[in-house]
Amino acid sequence: MMNDGMRNAGKGTPGLLRIGALEAGGTKMVCAVGNENGELEKRAEFPTETPERTLPRLIDFFRYEGLDALGVGCFGPVDLNRNSQTYGYITNTPKPAWVNCDFAGSLRNALGVPVGFDTDVNGAVLGEVCFGAARGCESAVYITVGTGIGVGIYVNGGLLHGLMHPEAGHMFVARLPEDRYPGRCPYHKSCLEGLASGPAITERFGRPAAELAGRNEVWELESGYIAQAVANLILTLSPQKVILGGGVMHQKQLFPLVRKKTAGLLNGYLSCSAVDKNMDEYIVPPALGDDAGIRGALMLGKAELEHSHGHKAKALEEASEHFAQSLRNYDGDPRKARDTKKTSW
Ligand code: ADP
Ligand code: ZN
Repeated sequence: MMNDGMRNAGKGTPGLLRIGALEAGGTKMVCAVGNENGELEKRAEFPTETPERTLPRLIDFFRYEGLDALGVGCFGPVDLNRNSQTYGYITNTPKPAWVNCDFAGSLRNALGVPVGFDTDVNGAVLGEVCFGAARGCESAVYITVGTGIGVGIYVNGGLLHGLMHPEAGHMFVARLPEDRYPGRCPYHKSCLEGLASGPAITERFGRPAAELAGRNEVWELESGYIAQAVANLILTLSPQKVILGGGVMHQKQLFPLVRKKTAGLLNGYLSCSAVDKNMDEYIVPPALGDDAGIRGALMLGKAELEHSHGHKAKALEEASEHFAQSLRNYDGDPRKARDTKKTSW
């Protein structure tokens, strides 16, 4: 690996990191280069085809940028367990070509820089926490309502992974009495995503969601499901901000409906002024608009660089401690002083 100080010579802003950001979606890949202040300088989009066709295009975009690190927010499910053999893989996706693809590893091997890897929605919540609507929050959630539904969760100052990563877009919600639509999730039929994703709206009402703006019953139903999800997340995670993004949330009339119905479901139980009096500032659209994910990916790259520096510093400390110990043990016999322990990082 090149000397960090030299790596981005001639590119970017002096004194700032040069970070690659990739928002890997099921239909398109958004690539950008920027810095730790969230400033983006160059971007491009490529269709998501197969790994064989798409990975080389991503690598070509980043290869000569003199990056210090890359951050990737990825569609999933993905493996985020650093101790797993398949860390950084896309695992069980409905896109067959990408099942068991070593996505982060392929990028790291080709680019030779640390690669931060997380879900697309965790990238988006991180972007909003660092630069957007949830700035200064210790805990926040980002719900995207689009082709699928996903929830990025930032709690107590960090992104939540847990056993693998939350999949709260598939939470179970109560069917509304007026709704006859069975739901379309291949796993759960009538989970949140099955009932309230963009394609569910289209299938239920026979037209794309964007063309149903004037149909009140569509948004009454949709807000009824989203509000159940928001109330469940508030009760479970106690976020300081709830951000609702994704294509379906372009229907701005959803916001007042979701706020009112969430308050109705919680029914004053929390006795918390953010929820009871300031709903307009509590449940909000992303301040970064469509850039939440890509700007969050910058910060995933920065975090991974810090993580790898931490590892190097720890290994160095261990090596010097080991060396000091061998010096203390040294009794004049040079064979005993030879250190056979190898340090690697
Ligand atoms: P994706 O989830 O695929 O990354 P989006 O967040 O843009 O992308 O979500 C796409 C979904 O959002 C589609 O199902 C589409 O019907 C719906 N959608 C896009 N724009 C609008 C709009 N203006 N109003 C309502 N629904 C929309
Ligand atoms: Zn489901």
